[in-house]
Amino acid sequence: MTTQEQGRLIFLAEPGKTEYLTFDLAEPEPGGILAKVTRANVCGSELHIWKGLHPTVKQCVMGHEMVGRVHTLGAGVETDFNGEPLAVGDRIAATYFQTCRKCRACRRGQFNLCENAYKFWMQSPRNAPHFHGTFGTHYAIHPDQYVYKVPDGVSDQVASFANCALAQVYFGLGLAELQAGETLVIQGAGGLGLSAIAVARERGARVIAIDGVGYRLEAAEAFGAHEIVDMREHETPQARAERVAYLAEGWGADVGIELTGVPAAFSEGISLVRPGGRYVSIGNVSPGLTTEFDPGALTRRAVRIIPVVRYQPWYLARVLRLLSETAGRYPWASLVDTDFPFEQVDDALEKSERREVRRASLVMPD
Ligand SMILES: [Zn+2]
Ligand SMILES: [Zn+2]
Repeated sequence: MTTQEQGRLIFLAEPGKTEYLTFDLAEPEPGGILAKVTRANVCGSELHIWKGLHPTVKQCVMGHEMVGRVHTLGAGVETDFNGEPLAVGDRIAATYFQTCRKCRACRRGQFNLCENAYKFWMQSPRNAPHFHGTFGTHYAIHPDQYVYKVPDGVSDQVASFANCALAQVYFGLGLAELQAGETLVIQGAGGLGLSAIAVARERGARVIAIDGVGYRLEAAEAFGAHEIVDMREHETPQARAERVAYLAEGWGADVGIELTGVPAAFSEGISLVRPGGRYVSIGNVSPGLTTEFDPGALTRRAVRIIPVVRYQPWYLARVLRLLSETAGRYPWASLVDTDFPFEQVDDALEKSERREVRRASLVMPD
């Protein structure tokens, strides 16, 4: 007699209250994959939901960043989304959202705006296949989630953030058409900002990084930022705009990118970019937080604003390749700096909330 295999997951029963639940592993649906999770990171949006700040989501199976191995392939799955053969045990990463191909956004080719992106993520864990989030020993990947094999030279630690921060800034700087020889100013040198430094350098751009925390500025230098603007030295938005202009032909950066999540950073960002430049908005994702804004100054500067939500799903393949090709060039592993055992999610969440760690990673039992 074979015993039914089981797995465990972390359920947010209400804001601030996590529970470990055990369920039978279900066969993946046709076209889907059941993954054995190796690592799952604590991202800003987990903290947001955990603190009860999300407008609608108060309960969920937590987690969206992940790397894992194929546990079971659903009927018909023979390859990843690059057409590479896929087998049980292969290391994989998946987009954290699905692209249904049938909604109004998908029909216009804007897969990153799929109206059904989180249709599965937000379901009750009582509903099969139970493992709707990545904070679990297993993760149910649906047929419309893009899945890619992780290149051999990319460690689990490095691959674990590919499907969120890195893919999104890569997509955003692509939309902004950042060119070789242009100057990019980055607001915020956290995980997103450091990823942006590397992506911008790979595009041949010159990078100015702004932050006010010592260890973040050191990391920005380690990732190869050409110039640093320390907010402790340049305390006001005006002082920072003057400093950035000084560093960029006395005019302003060609492209700016907001990666702080601070509403006021958006208004400030416009003043950091030269007339006719482009400005990418990524960090501010919480509706309802407002800030003062000068529309006349925007018009006169003629800065093009490019908001970025999620990414076209094939960008996950591109960033996995980027991580493989640039393995020696950037200290990628430092982006995930603290491991926690699967059993210690509260500790991981609390230390992340207090910003004692840059990126916490839950390491699953074998
Ligand atoms: Zn994330
Ligand atoms: Zn869709």
